[in-house]
Amino acid sequence: MPEGDVVYRTARRLGRALDGLALTRSDFRVPRHATADLTGRTVLATVSRGKHLLTRVEGGLTVHTHLRMEGSWQISPAGRGLPPGDVIRLVLANARWQAVGVRLGMVDLVATGEEERLVGHLGPDLLAADWDEADEAEVVRRLARRPETSIGVALLDQRNVAGIGTIYRAETLFLAGVSPWRRVGTIEDLGVIVSLARRLMNANKERPDRATTGDLRPGRSMWVYGRAGRPCLRCGHRISRGEMGTQPQERLIVWCRHCQPGEPTG
Ligand SMILES: [Zn+2]
Repeated sequence: MPEGDVVYRTARRLGRALDGLALTRSDFRVPRHATADLTGRTVLATVSRGKHLLTRVEGGLTVHTHLRMEGSWQISPAGRGLPPGDVIRLVLANARWQAVGVRLGMVDLVATGEEERLVGHLGPDLLAADWDEADEAEVVRRLARRPETSIGVALLDQRNVAGIGTIYRAETLFLAGVSPWRRVGTIEDLGVIVSLARRLMNANKERPDRATTGDLRPGRSMWVYGRAGRPCLRCGHRISRGEMGTQPQERLIVWCRHCQPGEPTG
């Protein structure tokens, strides 16, 4: 599943193609908005909020999309053929570019004033440009509301903090030396975990090749993610792999039992 850094870059790509130009085509291929037509309206901006994308257009409308598991926005020069297949959910085009939303998990069209209805439940966005100490404190407060939840589950709950997926969860907890199975209420400094996650995501938001180790070489770019069964880069113990949480696609957890003490609790 795309994480906040990928969604952030997607918003930037959409912005470069669409911002400031009038739409010459809009094609909503979702039943709810099949008759919507944004032709003639200028696109104002696309912003990301966690894993959500908000494309604001003239006239007080916002297109809300979410990549979910395998969605993407493909951008190509206007007039190019659309990618074959029946998975296109939305096309937005201007005289220069077309943006094709493929396998999008969500497509909504709402009044810009009602965006909060769609994203108001989210915790602070780790990649927000105006992030400050108050945001970190707010994430800590939200995490602490459910002290019995394991930190691994809590970090993926977008109501606590927006943007983290399985990769940044695994890497953040490794660097913090905290087992994903630890109960939130037993962790003294949740703020350290939040600021680590933010630092990792910010460091990677502008580049497609993620690295949390500072080393872009294959097999060296991540501390634990994708390395189950292989030796820990720090201590040499075998990296563990397990499942946690309820959403099937987000169960995978990898961690080092030696660097991150605290056994699975079921
Ligand atoms: Zn280790």
